[in-house]
Amino acid sequence: MTEIRLHNSRTRRKQPFAPLDAQDVRMYVCGPTVYDRAHLGNARPVVVFDVLYRLLRHVYGKKHVTYVRNFTDVDDKINARARMLQEGGDTRSLNEIIRALTDETIDWYHADMDALGALRPNHEPRATEFIVQMVAMIQGLIDKGHAYAAEGHVLFDVRSYPEYGKLSGRSVDDMIAGARVEVAPYKRDPMDFVLWKPSSVEEPGWDSPWGRGRPGWHIECSAMSHELLGPAFDIHGGGIDLQFPHHENEIAQSCCAHPDADFANFWLHNEMVQVEGKKMSKSLGNFFTVRDLLDELEKRMPKRVAGEVIRLVMIKSHYRQPMDWTEAAAKEAEATLRKWARATENVQSEKIDQRVIDALSDDLNVWGAITVLNELAANGDGSALLGSARFLGLLSEEVRAISQATEAYFDLQKLLILRAEARKEKNFARADLIRKRLDDFGIQLVDQSATVTAPKFEVFKIEEVIQSLPPEDKENLLGQEEYVVPRIFNNKAFSDRYQSFVARKVLGELE
Ligand SMILES: [Zn+2]
Repeated sequence: MTEIRLHNSRTRRKQPFAPLDAQDVRMYVCGPTVYDRAHLGNARPVVVFDVLYRLLRHVYGKKHVTYVRNFTDVDDKINARARMLQEGGDTRSLNEIIRALTDETIDWYHADMDALGALRPNHEPRATEFIVQMVAMIQGLIDKGHAYAAEGHVLFDVRSYPEYGKLSGRSVDDMIAGARVEVAPYKRDPMDFVLWKPSSVEEPGWDSPWGRGRPGWHIECSAMSHELLGPAFDIHGGGIDLQFPHHENEIAQSCCAHPDADFANFWLHNEMVQVEGKKMSKSLGNFFTVRDLLDELEKRMPKRVAGEVIRLVMIKSHYRQPMDWTEAAAKEAEATLRKWARATENVQSEKIDQRVIDALSDDLNVWGAITVLNELAANGDGSALLGSARFLGLLSEEVRAISQATEAYFDLQKLLILRAEARKEKNFARADLIRKRLDDFGIQLVDQSATVTAPKFEVFKIEEVIQSLPPEDKENLLGQEEYVVPRIFNNKAFSDRYQSFVARKVLGELE
């Protein structure tokens, strides 16, 4: 079996990955707080851990991997957004607005992450559906002496857990000195963090032994991972910005609630996102949601291609390095996808190159895997290229078809634009020449209106043209087969290739 090695933030080194139970490999990744469109920073862990999920499924079998990613649907930012809508004239109750807002945001999130080719996790728990488990866990922590109730709040007693700070490598006293800790009269120690807080009448709340209130953020992940994956599981992932305090607090809660288990065995953290070399921030005006980028790219390329371009740019950088979104990187990714699409034309079978698995097994070395893919494209190994690209969530059937078609489409469009311009300038000799040359190749131009011209293919003429071409052109267009007519009826890739071939030839003559 392939050995996977992963950099474990907990031990600060690369270690061989051995699951607790190879029949049920379990991974938890912190998901979004759902009140707004996902930005590039939210998307990175989704794409990074999607690659890991695919690798685990490959090594241990699809049925033997459980991946959980939560939705935080109770949060002060959500309440604030809902109140803003209410102040703006929304007449629904706050709870109704919150439910509608989070439902809509989850739909957006799914649509955007689907566009990036990320597989959906096996479970996507919503925090509000696990309040009972959170209350039980908090009660357990109080009973064991790790938490205390005060003024409607329940706080975790950080000093009761000597291991606190181990993941991020800080001592509690360092943290107090360095962090912006909220000092509150009900806290025994400034580092103690909230497990439960009271809700006012206008805020969403649930009944609990400590009065009507709502959970703190950190307890959500501890309770949901325990419910769905058990007290000990294999991998816990998330952005590096969550390491402290969120993950530190998750560990404290889970390990104190279930002292016999070890919570997550491996901790993986992805680095942050930059845009053109700068930190992404609203104040710098370089803050992009995934939807912004898709919209921008979809102006110049088909939808599916846009999603894969973003995915390819995101996975190319190693997950423990900052990922830089640049216009140049997007262009390069687009050219790569087109190159791979061309190299897999007419490829029917697919297989995964073991070298791709080996590269990914080395702490998700996606760059190494992409190098193998480029090599396969250069060597004309279409089926290994297709299988390996698909394994990385790239080169979907739509993208393959569209990438090929688009190129042909754009080539022919260039000629049609030249012809329309010539006619506008009353250069009828040039306009007629374009029509005549295309006609020579069996592509008839039918003017449907002053601006719309549709190409029509005369297959028997095309057959004659191809049979009379020099052997090299003929082989490029036909491959091993002899006759054009059956292919042009059955194969869109062939007709696209032919259109491109003719358009480029005629464009060359016009220059
Ligand atoms: Zn979490």
